[in-house]
Amino acid sequence: MDLNFTPEELAFRAEIRAWVAENLPKDISHKVHNALRLSKDDLQRWAKILGKKGWHGWAWPKEFGGPGWNVIQRHLFEEECALAGAPRVVPFGPVMVAPVIMAFGSPEQQKRHLPGIMSGEVWWSQGYSEPGSGSDLASVKTRAERRGDYYIVNGQKAWTTLGQYGDWIFCLVRTSNEGKPQTGISFLLIDMKSPGITVRPVITLDGEHEVNEVFFDDVEVPVDNLVGEENKGWTYAKYLLAHERTNIADVNRAKRELERLKRIAKAENVYDDRRFRDEIAKLEVDIVALEMMVLRVISAEKSGKQSLDVAGLLKIRGSEIQQRYSELMMQAAGPYSLPFIHEAMEAGWQGDHVGAAHCAPLASTYFNMRKTTIYGGSNEVQRNIVSQVVLG
Ligand SMILES: Cc1cc2nc3c(=O)[nH]c(=O)nc-3n(C[C@H](O)[C@H](O)[C@H](O)COP(=O)(O)OP(=O)(O)OC[C@H]3O[C@@H](n4cnc5c(N)ncnc54)[C@H](O)[C@@H]3O)c2cc1C
Repeated sequence: MDLNFTPEELAFRAEIRAWVAENLPKDISHKVHNALRLSKDDLQRWAKILGKKGWHGWAWPKEFGGPGWNVIQRHLFEEECALAGAPRVVPFGPVMVAPVIMAFGSPEQQKRHLPGIMSGEVWWSQGYSEPGSGSDLASVKTRAERRGDYYIVNGQKAWTTLGQYGDWIFCLVRTSNEGKPQTGISFLLIDMKSPGITVRPVITLDGEHEVNEVFFDDVEVPVDNLVGEENKGWTYAKYLLAHERTNIADVNRAKRELERLKRIAKAENVYDDRRFRDEIAKLEVDIVALEMMVLRVISAEKSGKQSLDVAGLLKIRGSEIQQRYSELMMQAAGPYSLPFIHEAMEAGWQGDHVGAAHCAPLASTYFNMRKTTIYGGSNEVQRNIVSQVVLG
């Protein structure tokens, strides 16, 4: 296993770094470096800049309009974007549904949906979870009944991230109750402007509107929007989840946030406290270890071995690290991290009597990060999967 980059790979990294430095809007990177609220416009502006260059689908093969990069190039691209302060690309379109459409969609579906995903124009949401169907995803109850050229969809999805912006949603729906629960699921692409769809906000611990409930009441969906075969949706769903869990590890963001933690610790005069330094060192070691694990996966893939079996491990360690740095930031700022000020998430807010501007968003980040060990498949469930893979 060779974890060193070749001169060509280093030149590629330099090229990406220069392009990102020139094209990433400064107001957006300022928000990212300081964990401030990103609007829909911020996220979509960056998506469209990437899309114009043909990089919003940076992992896509050339035949579908992607750059056709190998696994190392993809890794370097993600790292350079994260370190420069680019927003995390909203994954539902380019990272999740696009690979499913490429692998299992019809040529018409590919032609219709992939260009809008690549350009960043069309916003996708993920409609997997339901009340009572999260970890036990195969129990989804949202029903799709075939009537002529349409499916009539009825039911409810839960926790739909940024679904308030969604143009389209990909959904797991029940098309049969025969046999095992997994064998009666289908994968449908649904236009969120269809009559009968209601999106209701769920306000989370951090006071933000990030997730939603989505209700379907007699929603007509053309049968052409079925991906692959009816009742084979579970196969496509699992294919997509492997992509989701690897993405969630987000080691590059952890590296950037480690630097932010150090900045806060220095500003709050705890960087020289030995016990605190010890905590930062432990976190740094864990981040380096996670990065090594990611590089090992990449190295294996480069040499032709598929090793997505570790997706669960990456998800567990990555999410724990995300929670840990948000905790240490809170500790560094001490009482100054406690005020919960909604306006403090806006760029330009300078703080008032309650403390320095960099402390104010910390509580919000801390609360938001509680999600990481739950979403994308809870860590307890991931541990079950990892133990099955390792122990058989
Ligand atoms: C912020 C956020 C955003 C999300 N975004 C989306 C989205 O965009 N689209 C989408 O489809 N879903 C989304 N989800 C849903 C997410 O995937 C589920 O919350 C997750 O799969 C857990 O399901 P659940 O919430 O129903 O909890 P449950 O499955 O009810 O689990 C409750 C608890 O029991 C534990 N548990 C359950 N089964 C087992 C087991 N077999 N062994 C051990 N422990 C177990 C779990 O670990 C958890 O602690 C999001 C969730 C959050 C919190």
